[in-house]
Amino acid sequence: MRFLIVHNIDSGFGSDAIFAFQRSLVKPGDECCMRTIGDGFSPADVVADAESFDRVVISGGDGTVSSLLYQLRGRPVITSVFPSGTANLIFENLGCAPEPSAIARACRAGKSAACDLAEMSWTDVDGSFHREGFALISGTGFDAEIMRAAIPNKQAMGEAAYFLAVLSNVKPDIIDFSIDVDGEHHERQGIGCLAANNVMMQGEIEIVPDSRMDDGLLDVIMIESSDAVQLVRPLVAGILDPKGRNVARPHIERFQGAELRVRASQPVPIEVDGDPIDGLTHGYDVRVLPACVNLVVDSISRYADGARPPEAVRPSHDSLGTGT
Ligand SMILES: [Mg+2]
Repeated sequence: MRFLIVHNIDSGFGSDAIFAFQRSLVKPGDECCMRTIGDGFSPADVVADAESFDRVVISGGDGTVSSLLYQLRGRPVITSVFPSGTANLIFENLGCAPEPSAIARACRAGKSAACDLAEMSWTDVDGSFHREGFALISGTGFDAEIMRAAIPNKQAMGEAAYFLAVLSNVKPDIIDFSIDVDGEHHERQGIGCLAANNVMMQGEIEIVPDSRMDDGLLDVIMIESSDAVQLVRPLVAGILDPKGRNVARPHIERFQGAELRVRASQPVPIEVDGDPIDGLTHGYDVRVLPACVNLVVDSISRYADGARPPEAVRPSHDSLGTGT
């Protein structure tokens, strides 16, 4: 088999695990290309030749994984996510066994789930237009402030940096949001409005229940709390009840849809998949890109039921007998 491992050497800590993974992955006769990347890499160049490999492994945090998955959208590439970043929520949402040897076994087996991504576009206050793909949560308001505040502490503190940022940002602005979800109009006041393809947060907390990356729907999450201390309450509820089935999340309202339009009453900061964007905007549009990437899952994954064998994704290649 031919493997491409794209490894971000600047991501998070504990990233030596990728070498244990590689030792488990390769067998005699295999070819394995380890392509290292760092901050500022060009996602399009990194996976330009992805179709020439039997499997592509993306090793890094959510930012790395998300930007490379967006480049792989709609392509017949079977992709393993290897969690080696500060935050690995895409991997956590898939719910696969985390040991490097288990990820390697699943990667060779190559069963994959067809998962959604999302695409966000916006015009900033200076008039320039932007479009970016994402795999997790993007949006505006308080969430973006949290991500921005967490950056200085991310390397040293890991996930705890996000919780510290929540507590340090106690008086966010109240904003009027005008929200259209698949043509249905809503007016709400709150501190943030987010579009989510994956609602998993740090600590395996799900912001809203029963959200999936393979249902062709985005979750629109309106945060109505005016006080970050109140916001900690749903976070605590999340720790006690990670799936959100029994404890209400009083300050969070949810809509679901494939297309979303959000306008804010004042210029707001935004973030895309946890990365704060420079500049402010009056709003943004998001659409789902349904079933556009093939993510390797194992038998304990929550996406195992719908997973397809590798030949269903790459029929021509495997029928030539090169993908053993
Ligand atoms: Mg969904």
